[in-house]
Amino acid sequence: MLLAGKKGLIVGVANKRSIAWGIAQAAAREGATLAYTYQGERLKANVEELAKTLDPTAPLYDCDVTNDAQLDAVFQGIQSSWGALDFLVHAVAFAKREELEGEFVGTSRDGYALALDVSSYSLTALARRAVPLMTIPRGLPPVAGGSVVALTYYGAEKVIPRYNVMGVAKAALEASVRYLAYDLGPKHIRVNALSSGPVQTLAARGISGFSDMMKHVESRAPLRRNVTLEDVAHAAVFLLSPLAAGITGETLHVDCGYHIIGM
Ligand code: NAD
Repeated sequence: MLLAGKKGLIVGVANKRSIAWGIAQAAAREGATLAYTYQGERLKANVEELAKTLDPTAPLYDCDVTNDAQLDAVFQGIQSSWGALDFLVHAVAFAKREELEGEFVGTSRDGYALALDVSSYSLTALARRAVPLMTIPRGLPPVAGGSVVALTYYGAEKVIPRYNVMGVAKAALEASVRYLAYDLGPKHIRVNALSSGPVQTLAARGISGFSDMMKHVESRAPLRRNVTLEDVAHAAVFLLSPLAAGITGETLHVDCGYHIIGM
């Protein structure tokens, strides 16, 4: 089992279609013990019900990633229940609906700041709190270190009409991954991004024309299909696991090859 004995925090489960939930299931199959955050009381029951199917004792924390006090409480909770942390999955993004409909040029100051705060800065906010828990030597022989994986999308690299400010937020997220990888490498903490092809989720429903994006990928991607939740989850587990020990600062495309096409 690739993650036997590892303890990980999963940020971004909303429901059973969430990419974070796909990753949680795959990580648990590989032997990981998991804790979860949920975004407010509205989503608590969903996350609790799902988490219980894998582990009735899984720690759950209420956490809006824009709230520093809640972020602090998550890591204090993990510190007291586990004492250390091996991996972190960041699968969180948000932009106002109106920013994902019209043209990018119409992006408001508020909308820009909110999208970047929730979707990009949150990775750094989480990582800086995870560091003290990942640098504690543990296991036999004792080793320190950890792995962080953040979910991103091709709209960071190329223009995807209507993805708009979220593309800019993902570009900042991918750059953050590289800067974090540089800072945390000497502490044996790896930080990578996983660039997923389109998957039907709650967040995806906020992007107008999303079904057309999926049809387009199916007809053009070298593999002539869209990715499945399992495709993404398996690649995330790989990045979290010791099989990826030499990989950091990378953006791994899990998109049926779509990103290699020029025309
Ligand atoms: P999802 O709706 O299931 O997950 C998004 C999560 O973000 C939810 O759990 C939501 O509660 C959380 N979130 C939003 N604002 C938050 C806040 N302020 N504080 C805490 N949590 C907050 O959708 P998903 O598609 O599974 O998204 C997960 C990640 O995957 C996102 O980063 C998304 O951009 C990325 N991604 C998705 C696709 C896709 O096609 N679905 C493709 C590439 C990348």
